[in-house]
Amino acid sequence: MNEPLRFDLVAIGGGFAGLCAALRAAELGLRAAVIEAGSDENYLCSSRWAGGIFHVSYHDVKLGPDQLLAAINQRTGDETDPQLATAIAANAGRTVEWLAQQGARFTQGSPIAWHRFTLAPPRRPVAGQDWQGRGPDRLLSALGRRLRERQGRLLLGTRARALRLKNGEVTGIDAHRDGADLAVDARAVVIADGGFPGNAELFRRYIGPRPDRVLMRHAGTAIGDGLKMAAEAGAALIGLDRFYGHLMSRDAMENTALWPYPQIDAVATAGIVVDRDGGRFLDEGLGGIAIANELARLDDQLCATVICDAPIWETAGSSAQIPPNPQLPAAGGTVHQAGTIEALGRLAGLPGDSLAATVAEYNDAVRFNRLTTLLPGRSELAGAVRPIDTPPFFAIPICAGITNTFGGIAIDGHGRVKRPDGSPITGLYAAGGSTGGLEGGSALGYVGGLIKACVFGLLVAEHAAGR
Ligand SMILES: Cc1cc2nc3c(=O)[nH]c(=O)nc-3n(C[C@H](O)[C@H](O)[C@H](O)COP(=O)(O)OP(=O)(O)OC[C@H]3O[C@@H](n4cnc5c(N)ncnc54)[C@H](O)[C@@H]3O)c2cc1C
Repeated sequence: MNEPLRFDLVAIGGGFAGLCAALRAAELGLRAAVIEAGSDENYLCSSRWAGGIFHVSYHDVKLGPDQLLAAINQRTGDETDPQLATAIAANAGRTVEWLAQQGARFTQGSPIAWHRFTLAPPRRPVAGQDWQGRGPDRLLSALGRRLRERQGRLLLGTRARALRLKNGEVTGIDAHRDGADLAVDARAVVIADGGFPGNAELFRRYIGPRPDRVLMRHAGTAIGDGLKMAAEAGAALIGLDRFYGHLMSRDAMENTALWPYPQIDAVATAGIVVDRDGGRFLDEGLGGIAIANELARLDDQLCATVICDAPIWETAGSSAQIPPNPQLPAAGGTVHQAGTIEALGRLAGLPGDSLAATVAEYNDAVRFNRLTTLLPGRSELAGAVRPIDTPPFFAIPICAGITNTFGGIAIDGHGRVKRPDGSPITGLYAAGGSTGGLEGGSALGYVGGLIKACVFGLLVAEHAAGR
């Protein structure tokens, strides 16, 4: 092995978390580097593919810390780690300002209030992949340029393999580049590899039995290297069984024009979700993230079909920025349509009689306000319900899509990696999608992947610089 490279701070992963950490460290006078496995200048990562909306639990990032903290607590059912939630609430506003100083351009992405800080130019309203030249892609490149201008290094085509440890402290990493080993010394190592949504073995261990039957709604580059390295160094891992994701057309498993958008969440939560026998089997009212998690855990992950009627298809179906109506059929996704529920069942390969009985029972419960007596019960957390009674009727075969893991490496409010007893591992930090404790829990609360990555990118650098 050659002489080790020497830095004050090195980040594993060149997504927003790693780049923010290294750039902020360089700004504060540290010798900083990012080790990135992708070898191309446009290396793939979830940060580059993101929709670009900076929000805190679906709230404007510039609201006061108290309001943001209340939003996080409400969304996560108070199961979030208070230190992490407070860190996000206190730093979200200044983080988008700092990003703007580094070249981020924000725009109001839609009339929705919490879309105020959307990276420009935003995604076009089209189905399928549309990330090249969009706001997140541009910002990622701008951060890389800034890092180099500040004498930081972005080492592409370099994969971190293991942490270097001395007397229980982290002193650097061992990496692999161009077929050769590379040693990197650093007094601060930041794990920012995006988590483990792309690791089939870890998915099977923690989330569900068949990752091949769940749509991988991400760039495929976050494969759990950091989680394993942290665990070997004695880190606590937290909340690994939950993920952030959406409901996708089942055809998206084969047709890339159908993901990462449109999402089917709004139609599913306004209508009902049935299995191969035509019966309801989950509470649609809990929302798309909850349904996706439930589907991923089943033995028969591809059993689900959304049923709705014309008013739902015309309202909830066309409400999102990239709505399934009309984007889903236009991009080749299956949408069965019929004048009666029985005929719809025949088209969708579902038993018509049983489907009709399910819809009739559901409609009665809606009309007579007996949603909780249904089996399973039906809540209205994701929006109000209406009967499915106005033809034409629609059936959309769906699957779960995983975007990123909610759980991961346990950290404190500065991003220091914690042992199971709560003590920090000297020299080791983690940020972004690799970390756990903020999101997930039994409420499956989402705080926001972009704000989480960037806030903790800044915080780890500032702690390492002694701020
Ligand atoms: C389609 C899509 C839309 C999204 N839209 C939004 C949105 O609008 N708003 C929002 O808040 N969030 C959104 N998210 C989530 C958000 O993009 C992510 O949570 C966030 O970007 C994660 O950033 P990260 O830096 O932690 O990880 P990533 O962006 O995944 O970066 C990790 C990097 O680490 C590298 N890496 C992995 N292993 C190694 C290794 N061993 N050595 C070196 N490098 C390694 C990878 O190659 C990758 O480049 C979206 C995600 C997707 C996929």
